[in-house]
Amino acid sequence: MLAQSSIQAPFARSVLRWYDKYGRKNLPWQKNKTFYQVWLSEVMLQQTQVSTVIPYFERFIDAFPTINVLADAPLDEVLHLWTGLGYYARARNLHKAAQTVRDQYGGEFPTDFQQVWDLTGVGRSTAGAILSSVLNAPYPILDGNVKRVLSRYFTVEGWAGEKKTENRLWRLSAEVTPTERAADFNQAMMDLGAMVCTRTKPKCGLCPLSKKCGATLTNSWEKYPAKKPKKQLPERESYFLILAQNGKVALEQREQSGIWGGLYCFPQFEDKSTLLQYLQQLGIREYQEWSAFRHTFSHFHLDIFPIYAQYRQTERDENRSDWKKIEENGADYKSTISSTINYWYDPENPDQIGLATPVKNLLTEFQKGQHYVKNRIL
Ligand code: SF4
Repeated sequence: MLAQSSIQAPFARSVLRWYDKYGRKNLPWQKNKTFYQVWLSEVMLQQTQVSTVIPYFERFIDAFPTINVLADAPLDEVLHLWTGLGYYARARNLHKAAQTVRDQYGGEFPTDFQQVWDLTGVGRSTAGAILSSVLNAPYPILDGNVKRVLSRYFTVEGWAGEKKTENRLWRLSAEVTPTERAADFNQAMMDLGAMVCTRTKPKCGLCPLSKKCGATLTNSWEKYPAKKPKKQLPERESYFLILAQNGKVALEQREQSGIWGGLYCFPQFEDKSTLLQYLQQLGIREYQEWSAFRHTFSHFHLDIFPIYAQYRQTERDENRSDWKKIEENGADYKSTISSTINYWYDPENPDQIGLATPVKNLLTEFQKGQHYVKNRIL
């Protein structure tokens, strides 16, 4: 579905006039636009604000200046530069898609809509945003900001996660997107949603659409977009073992898929008694309980109970033949204690690996010694 409006139509004209005056035109990915930079920015901006994205974007482009450099980089390095940005599947998908561009398109980003949409991690709106931004091609978009503006302006009932509502929003987006200046119009709609038609307290007095906006005319912006039907998030527990030795900490890499896929985490245990049994096997008798805290994912709460212990390597461990070594960046990834723990991480000299956010925060506490501690003996 392509754009169907003209820049003279009242909706597009109002939005573009506003954009010319107030829209964002100097973001790092808007200067010397390339497919790669626009694609990267679109992926980073999913569920993340512009101000958060900018420093990540700049570091990423410095480290991986082209699609081929990104495709050739070890995934660990990619995840390292994504650490703290969240939603790590985005980074894994980006890396995979870069390899597709390298292998199938000789490193040149495709310009065919279907080929762009087929790239791992690229949805219909992202494909439209990339092609409209770089080529000025008239593809409508429907990210969270655009959904909000359209839902309010046209008072669209129903949750956008339902197919029927989503289809209606896509139709409306195509109807208002002009066939010319699609790049500016799409950017304007994203800016309008981020800066004026905000989630709470929209600034309708400053909005170029206020005269005909259904939500404003009926004083009902709070109703739009309709919220996702509430579901109580399930709660889970995890015991993190912070096992330290000579200032280093044992980490293990998680499976590539699922929560924190490919990132490095502390060894995790489902219950405390299994963790304590494990300490006993290692000959450890003293440990500390650190303050528990909650980390919330989109589909469940994880209550994390950190347990800290000091490990002393024995001669037997030194001679173990099952030490692991991960070749990717040549670091000294060796397990001395268990086949599941495969890395002694040095927080003073950190390697380029991806860390889950709670792990990163606990490592900071470990370095600063800033934690509430209960000493325990087994
Ligand atoms: S008038 Fe208000 S509610 Fe309507 S689109 Fe503009 S900011 Fe949003």
